[in-house]
Amino acid sequence: MNISNLPDTITNKKLKKIAVKVFEEIPVSKADAVYMLSTNDILELGKISNFIRTKLHGHKAYYGVNMNLNFTNICELRCPLCAFSRDEGDKDAFLLSLDEIGKRVRKAVASGIDEVHIVGGLHPELKIDYFEEMIRRIKKIKSDLFIVAFTAVEIDYFAKKNKITVKDTLKRLTDAGVGAMPGGGAEIFSPRIRNFIAPTKIPGRRWLQIMRTAHEMGLKTNATMLYNHKEEIVDIADHLAKIRKLQDETGGFKTFVPLLFHAANTRIKAKRGTSTGYDDIRIYAASRIFLHNVPHLKALWMYLGDKMAQVLLRFGVDDFAATYYNEKVVHAAGAKTPDYGSEPFLKRLIENAGLKPVRTTANYWIQ
Ligand code: SF4
Repeated sequence: MNISNLPDTITNKKLKKIAVKVFEEIPVSKADAVYMLSTNDILELGKISNFIRTKLHGHKAYYGVNMNLNFTNICELRCPLCAFSRDEGDKDAFLLSLDEIGKRVRKAVASGIDEVHIVGGLHPELKIDYFEEMIRRIKKIKSDLFIVAFTAVEIDYFAKKNKITVKDTLKRLTDAGVGAMPGGGAEIFSPRIRNFIAPTKIPGRRWLQIMRTAHEMGLKTNATMLYNHKEEIVDIADHLAKIRKLQDETGGFKTFVPLLFHAANTRIKAKRGTSTGYDDIRIYAASRIFLHNVPHLKALWMYLGDKMAQVLLRFGVDDFAATYYNEKVVHAAGAKTPDYGSEPFLKRLIENAGLKPVRTTANYWIQ
């Protein structure tokens, strides 16, 4: 697209106004977000979101070669939205020993991974030393492995359990080798919805506070948003606005990741059943347009299905996520995608959309 004439290419009056703002680099409003999240005019929404995507990243689309490490599914919180967690003593509850973790990481390193993505349940017996030792052992296996680990919910829990500050918790983990934080646990900030889907999880304002601390320490993070459960469009607009505001203040979010909720084996009945293609497109395109200050937008093909994720590459997405060897969380909730995508599989989907695949890690260190 000729980037000098974006607003001229839009015929829908409301989207034209949004396109003018985008073109003039004026942040769009929450009312604009609400409109984008409800319009059926997805082709024009696509023009605007693809304009931003192209301006930021040209024809590149990033992907990673990584492994997922879910060290335990034992979790004190047992959120209604979660299909992954178990109580201690359940027959399928697990906690990996550090030796077992070492074995799995060595195997994945032999297959050529660049990165380990670590999240787990809130296990009451695990102390911060276990996590420091885990990270150090992983770094010993391959010193330049990039480690993305522990959501803001986990960081809050570790700090409380170990009676140390959030800052000290983050310092100890980054000293051990954590390179960035994933964005999980944000869910949806609206207390009304959060009390229903994850009543015992830290509130949205605490999640934002922990991210602020991480950013102030120079640690880059992702931000997520769980959609397609009980939320309304205004809750999504409000969530996006809170992320954008913190980003204005800290600049520490590198990537925004909308997460499609999968209801199987959870205690939540998604009110709309599965999302439609238009729902996914509206969420991603509106996120790209509203979050002008967050550089990357990631589509997790495992949540969305590879075909929808590929389509979203033209609706604002520049990060096609990663191979995710051995993903457990969304598959526990019924995702039908495979739990591993090979590098050729990801590259083919990107190239087939007319884009240039660029292998990278969560800090966009380009190889
Ligand atoms: S969503 Fe996270 S915090 Fe909640 S039960 Fe599952 S693992 Fe635990």
